Amino acid sequence: MDQHRFLEITQLSISFPKSPLPVLHDVDLQIARGEYVAVIGHSGCGKSTLLNVIAGLLPASGGGVVLDGREIAGPGPDRAVVFQNHSLLPWLTCYENIRLAVDQTLSKTMSRAERHDWVLENLAMVRMTSAKDKRPAEISGGMKQRIGIARALAMRPKVLLMDEPFGALDALTRAHLQDQVMEIHASRGTTVVMITHDVDEAVLLADRIVMLTNGPNATVGEVLEVKLPRPRDRLALAADPAFTAARAAVLEFLHARHANPALAAA
Ligand code: ADP
Ligand code: MG
Repeated sequence: MDQHRFLEITQLSISFPKSPLPVLHDVDLQIARGEYVAVIGHSGCGKSTLLNVIAGLLPASGGGVVLDGREIAGPGPDRAVVFQNHSLLPWLTCYENIRLAVDQTLSKTMSRAERHDWVLENLAMVRMTSAKDKRPAEISGGMKQRIGIARALAMRPKVLLMDEPFGALDALTRAHLQDQVMEIHASRGTTVVMITHDVDEAVLLADRIVMLTNGPNATVGEVLEVKLPRPRDRLALAADPAFTAARAAVLEFLHARHANPALAAA
């Protein structure tokens, strides 16, 4: 199959009952295997709705999504989701949270011993080995997100879907997790669709930035290719003209051409 059409969104529209206008309309997007795509747009424009349709948690009203040649009709283990607030089970340890997901998705392909080793490998990937026997209440917010990411990737999804995964974290923790996610993306080659409203985060992490227009009835306004070489170093990039130019282009889209409607009305 065409590698550029690993994840293909075609003429997607999404409406909710009782709303006169669709949330999103005519969304077309083709994502290649291994690509890191960030979706950015003002609050309420439909970012989470779009991600939920890709996840299979919401039905499309028109058009559709095809992943690796198969139309998405519901949730499945080929798509793992990381939300802003962790969804770890509080009564299980970090190890057990990941182990449960691995047992549910890989018990046919891996032996017990292999699944055990695979959980440990994923704990090590997010540098959480030493906290493996702790429960979610005993670790920090950043650590919980790292376990959530490890759990998602331990399921070997075809696509990792993240909805503002670092949005609830302080700036230093966020930077640390962004760096880890870049490392993981490089080492595992996972295809990622990440929702964000953070311009710097989008430019630092993504191969392409999909900018949504304002809702209701939003759609893809512009797609920016971020041609910065990897691995990317946040300190070096801060002074890199290509980084500054990409950042300026996204800011211009969001604040000059598609200003936040909530602020504009105030
Ligand atoms: P974003 O993630 O970009 O902030 P959302 O995708 O959460 O935006 O929401 C987009 C729009 O869809 C909002 O106007 C929101 O009120 C509406 N919406 C989201 N979920 C539902 C739902 N289940 N029923 C009705 N309207 C919804
Ligand atoms: Mg949202």
